[in-house]
Amino acid sequence: MNYENSAEFVKKMDADDPLAKYRGQFHIPQHNGQDCIYFCGNSLGLQPVTAAPAIQQELEDWKNLGVEGHFKGKNPWKDYHEFLTEQLAHVVGAKPVEVVAMNNLTVNLHLLMASFYRPTKERHKIIIEQSAFPSDQYAVKSQIAFHGFDPATSLIELKTGEDIEPLIDESVALILIGGVNYYTGELFDLEKITRLGHAKGCIVGFDLAHAAGNALLKLHDWSVDFAAWCSYKYLNGGPGAVAGAFVHERFANDHTLPRFAGWWGHDKKSRFKMGPDFKPIAGAEGWQLSNPSIFGLAPLRASLNMFYEAKMENLRAKSEALTGYLAFLLAGKAELMTPADPARRGCQLSIRAKSKKVFDALTEGGVVCDWREPDCVRVAPVPFYNTFSDVYRFAKIFTEVPL
Ligand SMILES: *Cc1c(COP(=O)(O)O)cnc(C)c1O
Repeated sequence: MNYENSAEFVKKMDADDPLAKYRGQFHIPQHNGQDCIYFCGNSLGLQPVTAAPAIQQELEDWKNLGVEGHFKGKNPWKDYHEFLTEQLAHVVGAKPVEVVAMNNLTVNLHLLMASFYRPTKERHKIIIEQSAFPSDQYAVKSQIAFHGFDPATSLIELKTGEDIEPLIDESVALILIGGVNYYTGELFDLEKITRLGHAKGCIVGFDLAHAAGNALLKLHDWSVDFAAWCSYKYLNGGPGAVAGAFVHERFANDHTLPRFAGWWGHDKKSRFKMGPDFKPIAGAEGWQLSNPSIFGLAPLRASLNMFYEAKMENLRAKSEALTGYLAFLLAGKAELMTPADPARRGCQLSIRAKSKKVFDALTEGGVVCDWREPDCVRVAPVPFYNTFSDVYRFAKIFTEVPL
């Protein structure tokens, strides 16, 4: 794309943006009576205007129907998680049977590792990326220790920029990589990693916290074994929103996999017979334990409906243009930790800052972004609600910081 550093160019880009109408579908936080430049969707996505009415509907049904809301509500609660399935499948490139909205991210990682991390004396290692999000490191190390192995010898860390292929051999049980690294913003080649892992007999799972709703994913076609993600970042489900999980279709009826069971994963036809023997629902739903928080699912559903309508392909196309524009405006003015190739990044750029003063000046100027020690400012222009003017205003503030 031929970018220009001018107010006219930005005006034209925003006027021609086919997704422009969605900005009005979100509440934009204010700074000195003006819209913030909200570049923090990588941490907490903004609130869709449809979120509050969605929650209100369930409060009404609870008020008017009590327990009968499970069966007679406008959106019967016993089926509520299913109202999100189709949309969730679209967002991660899956079949409906492969996804479910449940729990929170780290919980889902543990539940899926209970099934998919089955270490033996010969094959017990897990590959994660170096400086993975702390929760993932804790989860993986505790799983290794839980099975009686030592993280010092069973955990392999993929260094930034390192080729994963030489690390994969017959001693690796599981590859568990973050789809987009939270710190650098690097988008991994998930298809290739899956192929390389499977060629050596490894299970391949992904943490998609920073990829879901951001990168174009094709989990089914890539044959990924399992994945989990949270829904409060790019999926705009609200703080602590109900997370997601993916289990490939080939395991939908695989009863040889061990799993931790709960009644909400039990066959729907006989769930309320309350029998003693667990019979899992086919597919990802069979990994559910508890009946889900309806007030947690309602805003997520409202948001996912928008993804389904706008379509990930369109969001991704705008995202590449928007982040590409930011990279263009910052060229020669900032050092980026994020890969320059648009195919190797999501919407986030991680800027190496000379001092925290940069971040403070941005905050002062009405930018919401975040600071990560020791020297990183993460900025994420989100295609759903950010504009080319946001990017232009941001770059102006950034380049004018007196250092
Ligand atoms: C945000 C994030 C988490 C947070 O975990 P929760 O269980 O949702 O609190 C975990 N892992 C990664 C990679 C993340 O980006």
